[in-house]
Parts: sequence; structure tokens; C-alpha cells
Amino acid sequence: MIDNFDGTVVCASKYFTADEIRVLYHKGIHDFGENKVQDFLKKKELLSDLNIHWHFIGHLQSNKVKDMINHISLLHTLDRISVANEIQKHAKDVISCLVQVNLTEEDQKSGVNPENLAEFLIEIKKYDKINIVGFMTMGKLNDQKETEIAFKKLDELSKFYKLPYRSMGMSDDYELAIKHHATHLRIGRKFKEML
Ligand SMILES: *Cc1c(COP(=O)(O)O)cnc(C)c1O
Repeated sequence: MIDNFDGTVVCASKYFTADEIRVLYHKGIHDFGENKVQDFLKKKELLSDLNIHWHFIGHLQSNKVKDMINHISLLHTLDRISVANEIQKHAKDVISCLVQVNLTEEDQKSGVNPENLAEFLIEIKKYDKINIVGFMTMGKLNDQKETEIAFKKLDELSKFYKLPYRSMGMSDDYELAIKHHATHLRIGRKFKEML
């Protein structure tokens, strides 16, 4: 579906039923990301016969961490110490995590603010159940210019901290994300074309 990209396309499957995910799986999509713990657990159960790599891409409440943390291959949205504490408490193995960074200066948005990032990363080093492998960000809705600035910043942060993964880009802005070296795209609505 996206041919000029050799990273991981994660299907943001909040729009899709378990049956639709099954169809996409058989068309070759094996990475799916859910936003809500309850939906994730339900779909995972219904699709347990498939070898899906599950990602978690939504805002995560601390009290839900224990239900899902041992069933995902990558958490895209670590942004609070309270969530890290719960991961440390409940993870059976080391969990690969991306730190979500808020790069568009929207106060209501999830994510660590860039000015707090260095301190957050130092704090997280104390957690031996958490392996930080990169960063995730969201563009600004209907603003390609601000979105591109955010994606460029994420690329720079990942070089600065020498972390390999960059999760950015959705159906409307994935070309900009590819231009700025995304390794993981999170694509939702565009997958309707494949059903
Ligand atoms: C829904 C969602 C996406 C995908 O959105 P589309 O615009 O449908 O491609 C990506 N990331 C997150 C965090 C989402 O919630």
C-alpha cells in the first residue's frame, strides 16, 4: 500500500472489527496497534490463532497497564512516570517502549514536553523492565507546516539520543514522516482501501 517505505507499517485498528483485522492479516499486514486496553484485549482474544505483532498506540492509564503490558511487542506512548512504575511492577520481561513527545506545543496533548525529555530519559534508566528504543509523536491536525516541523524535530531527537525508532505519520501525513526518516507509520483510515 505504501511502497516507498521499508520500515514497519502499523495498522491503527481502532476503526476495524476483529473480522476486518483478520482480512487485513491475510493480505499481509501483521502489525496492529490499538488505542484502548479493553478493545485490545477483546480483539487479541478473538484473533489469538494469528501471529499478530500487537502495538499499543493510545493514551495509557496507569491502572490499565497490568492487563496489557505482557501482550504487546511495542508500547508507543510512554509519557509518564506513573505508567513506568506500573510497567516495572507488572512486566514479566523487558518491554520495548517509545517515549511519546509533544512537539506541537498543544497543551491538551499527551506526551513529554521536549524541555523535560532529558530528565525523563534519565529517570527511566532506573527501570530495568523498560527498554527505550525511540520516540513517537503526532502531527498537528490540518497543519502540514507544523506537522513537518514536529517530524523533523523527532528525527533530530532520535539522532541526538542515538535511539533507533521513530513512530510518526498517519493517513494524512505519512509522506512527511517518511521524508523525515520514520521507522514506524501508524496508518488507520487508509487501510479501508484494502478491505
Ligand atoms: C487513529 C490513530 C492513528 C491513525 O490515524 P489515521 O488518520 O486514521 O491514519 C495513528 N496514531 C494514533 C495514536 C491514532 O490514534
